[in-house]
Amino acid sequence: MQKNSPFITLVTPTAPITVQTHGGRAKCLQRLVRLDLPVPTTVAVSFDAVHRLAGGEIPDLERLMEPFEDGCLLCVRPSSEDPDWGGPRAVLNIGINDERHAELAKSIGKAADEIYLRFIQAYSEHVARLDPDMFDDIDLSGPKAVHEALEAYEDEAEEPFPQDAATQLLGVLRSMARAWGGTSARLLRMAKGAPADAGLGLVVQAVALGMGQGESGSGVLQLVDGASGHQVIKGRYLSQSQGRDALHAGDKSLFLTKDKRGPSLQEKLPEAFDALIEHAELMRKRLREEMQMEFTIENGEVHILDGVRIQRSARAAVRIAVALAEEGIISHEEALMRIEPRALNELLHRQVDPNAKRDVIGAGVAASPGAASGRLVFSEAAAQASAARGEACILVRRQTSPEDVRGMHASVAVLTERGGVTSHAAVIARGLGLPCVVGASSLRFQTRSKQLTAQGGRIFKEGDVVTVDGTNGQVLAGEPEMLEAALDDAFKTLMTWADEARDIGVRANADTPSDAKTARNFKAQGIGLCRTEHMFFDEDRLTVMREMIFADDPADRRTAVDRLMPIQRADFVELFRIMKDQPVCIRLFDPPLHEFLPGNRAGMRDLAEALDLPLSHVERRIEALSEYNPMLGMRGVRLGITIPEIYEMQARAIFEATLDAAKDGAVVVPEIMIPLVSAKREVELVKTRIDAVAAAVRTERGADFDFKLGVMVETPRAALRAEDIAPHCDFFSFGTNDLTQMAYGLSRDDAGRFMSAYVQQGVYPEDPFHTLDAEGVGELVQLGVDRGRKAQPGLTMSVCGEHGGSPESIAFCRKVGIDYVSCSPFRVPVARLAAAQFTI
Ligand code: PEP
Ligand code: MG
Repeated sequence: MQKNSPFITLVTPTAPITVQTHGGRAKCLQRLVRLDLPVPTTVAVSFDAVHRLAGGEIPDLERLMEPFEDGCLLCVRPSSEDPDWGGPRAVLNIGINDERHAELAKSIGKAADEIYLRFIQAYSEHVARLDPDMFDDIDLSGPKAVHEALEAYEDEAEEPFPQDAATQLLGVLRSMARAWGGTSARLLRMAKGAPADAGLGLVVQAVALGMGQGESGSGVLQLVDGASGHQVIKGRYLSQSQGRDALHAGDKSLFLTKDKRGPSLQEKLPEAFDALIEHAELMRKRLREEMQMEFTIENGEVHILDGVRIQRSARAAVRIAVALAEEGIISHEEALMRIEPRALNELLHRQVDPNAKRDVIGAGVAASPGAASGRLVFSEAAAQASAARGEACILVRRQTSPEDVRGMHASVAVLTERGGVTSHAAVIARGLGLPCVVGASSLRFQTRSKQLTAQGGRIFKEGDVVTVDGTNGQVLAGEPEMLEAALDDAFKTLMTWADEARDIGVRANADTPSDAKTARNFKAQGIGLCRTEHMFFDEDRLTVMREMIFADDPADRRTAVDRLMPIQRADFVELFRIMKDQPVCIRLFDPPLHEFLPGNRAGMRDLAEALDLPLSHVERRIEALSEYNPMLGMRGVRLGITIPEIYEMQARAIFEATLDAAKDGAVVVPEIMIPLVSAKREVELVKTRIDAVAAAVRTERGADFDFKLGVMVETPRAALRAEDIAPHCDFFSFGTNDLTQMAYGLSRDDAGRFMSAYVQQGVYPEDPFHTLDAEGVGELVQLGVDRGRKAQPGLTMSVCGEHGGSPESIAFCRKVGIDYVSCSPFRVPVARLAAAQFTI
């Protein structure tokens, strides 16, 4: 902070005024003065001076008043560094006293009363800190209102109302300076991102009255709509008014442009209207921003009091930035920098209308953005039945497992009691673009009796309509108004500029044809992770899959696997056709087998029937497959080594699909990825088998194809031993979900229970499943990249964990030399924009 700055600085084109010393409003007013707009005389009080004022320093009042004409009224407004940080309310009409009131009454009549009353009230409340109710018994439009108000003041304050303009001004300045230092104001602005020591500046401006005999009044004007971003003149004007009165005057105020609904300023005062539009357009061009202009008309003459950057929705922000850049007012780079990448979520998904009433019944982790309303269902089967009836439903589970995936497909949103941002429900929902709230432990989940109980005892049963807001993690009763997604031309243009600027690739994690289509729509540069296990949950395959798991010997297993192969091949052909000419990285089977088995007795009975086995046999087998910690057990490449038939079948399906798709002109070089590797020998064994399958398919089909083989680096040991592993690979893909889980020893599915307490108490700066922990997990990634490239300089490096879609993590990936990130399809635009911003 600048020390011992002059107490005031007259706002002239060359005065030393900056946003950092005097605040945004003061700087903006200086810009308006430079544009030669009709701004009333204004002085700026610096952060330092306000700080001194709050500490009791008394400025030279004569000097303070010097720039203003004798007898002119003044107003004081806050000027913080960022307007969103708030500040005390403006006070108008400082300097009015009995004498001035009498003079004014001669020229403007009764309006003089209003001016005096407005100041007496503001002064009483904000400076003298009197009870605002003290004027309740006074008829403020009555002939004696001023007299009565002055008396009321004297009674309450036990002194007469100050008549000296300098005393009044000092009182207002000091009260505003102190209000800024108050605890609630400080907490409020810190919640909006302000630093603890954020300063406040003030601007003191001569009041253009807006009341008088000729046409006088005040209003606001802007050239775009803050909700849509479309160009349209908006605002209101109110005759005989001050400040922002016009905005609250309803039918009494005028439209600005000609309007069927009522009279307009354009008709009433065409010259003033034209001048205002000219000023607004100049402001837009030279301030390089859409501004809301506050103006006063005094006896027909226009005064510009203030310009404020207009409040805007995310979709409007995109449209405005693109329009300004297309008109050459700002550069493409600046347009890109003006959009917060995560704000794109508002465009990509339906959202609860910000103006809608929210009946919040519970909250959890905002796991997948967007909002949807539907009837509560508590099982995968009920979700499917609901979808078949054409009724939107919300799937409620304690936590989801792969068994629920079909139910998720049939739902419009998902709500779980347990889990964090990388739990199963969260990952799948993001992939599907479904709104999802996980870890909603403030609600009681009674899935057996099919009900949810909110705090306070409100009960929601199956069939009741609720809304899941995955953008902010809330669960709402009923069906509030929604805003539709807005993938409009402005969005597409911005994305094209982002692609021109960025230097890191962005692919999508896509498992199904519909994911792949979304990925293409969002211009992902291929698929970076296709989790193949999800392909085995459809009814026709699940039973065969279970037969395979129950096979007693390799021959029986081979028979079951052979039945799965054509199904899997058809999946890949479809995927390759959609992704035509783009890379597709397929991960071999990863999850523990028990995930494909029923969890309850009824399910086991069905399975016994389907497989024609005794129930006891099914129970024993399931018992034998259960693991204490399946995430660290028989999964990933460990299955590939011990039950080689699965990977061989998948490799064959991939190779045959490659040849089949190529026949239709869809040329794809598949990338095959081995999950959960921790030792070089695992790669050697799997590679040998896959190469053998490739050779067999080439011979059988008499045709050639290319493919790449790589590993997922998602165990700490794989990162540490990257130098051993790399020579067998064409690429590494860092699975930062598992890598985070294992580096921290933190279960992905259970961390949601205590994560918020950990973040709140500063144990972790953020949820490491959400934002990559650059220090710890990041060091493993860095080691993996460096050691891998040391052994194999051309190795392609990527990140396919959920971090691939987080802007902060993308910055890290770029820094350590990752070639591309891969994230859920709906996060691809966010990643493209964030990646572009890091190059600017
Ligand atoms: C990972 O672990 O980061 C990963 C991408 O795989 P999954 O989330 O399927 O375990
Ligand atoms: Mg993993």
